[in-house]
Amino acid sequence: MRRKLIAGNWKMNGSRAFSKNLVRGLLDGISGAELSCDLLVCPAACLLETVGGLVAGSRIALGGQDCHGAEAGAHTGDISAAMLKDAGCAYVILGHSERRQDHGEADALVRAKAKAALAAGLTPIVCVGETATERDAGRTLAVVETQLAGSLPDLESGQALVIAYEPVWAIGSGRTPSTSEVGEVHAAVRRSLEFSLGGETAAAVRILYGGSMKPGNAAELLAVQDVDGGLIGGASLKAEDFLGIARACA
Ligand code: PEP
Repeated sequence: MRRKLIAGNWKMNGSRAFSKNLVRGLLDGISGAELSCDLLVCPAACLLETVGGLVAGSRIALGGQDCHGAEAGAHTGDISAAMLKDAGCAYVILGHSERRQDHGEADALVRAKAKAALAAGLTPIVCVGETATERDAGRTLAVVETQLAGSLPDLESGQALVIAYEPVWAIGSGRTPSTSEVGEVHAAVRRSLEFSLGGETAAAVRILYGGSMKPGNAAELLAVQDVDGGLIGGASLKAEDFLGIARACA
């Protein structure tokens, strides 16, 4: 039985004051409450220390939004997986479509980053998803399967991996696939994982859905078979919305 994960991708938003407010709202909101999911927030790198200090010892985990594939060295502007770990992170989002678009990140690079993350003791959240053009051309499953085949790292025993299926056209658009479309892709992702990692390892991998998830649509999306949580952008910036999604986990 996989426990659901509700992960907030704050993207390039916030300030120290904003983050403190948001995290205090989250901590107040979960205080004394029973949670049927794991919670994760992924702020911008410069906010990790502020947010990490507030969530330390709480039921909210900390994650980064990207890391470099190398251990250390001459990579100006980049952050290593070990640095994220040292800052208190447990997870790192990799291969988000905005990084694939803004920085030309291809599958092989995402795989290198995922390997670096695992080596540093982080759990990578590897993002995959089709564009609107690819969906309209009936290529959704082929695109997602190719991205998985190219970007998944090998796993050693004890290492955890999370996949986020995020249709590019659903991100920040207010549009979502139907629950049957989500179910079809998540089932295909699970099959791909079984093929590449073996049944037992694949069964432990959480597959998140991401793209315009909100309190109002979370319950139906999270009830779909093989949807093991959500990667939340816009709605993770308001404590009530993020917690509303968390409460929708059965
Ligand atoms: C995201 O960017 O990971 C995302 C899911 O964004 P939103 O929830 O705003 O669509």
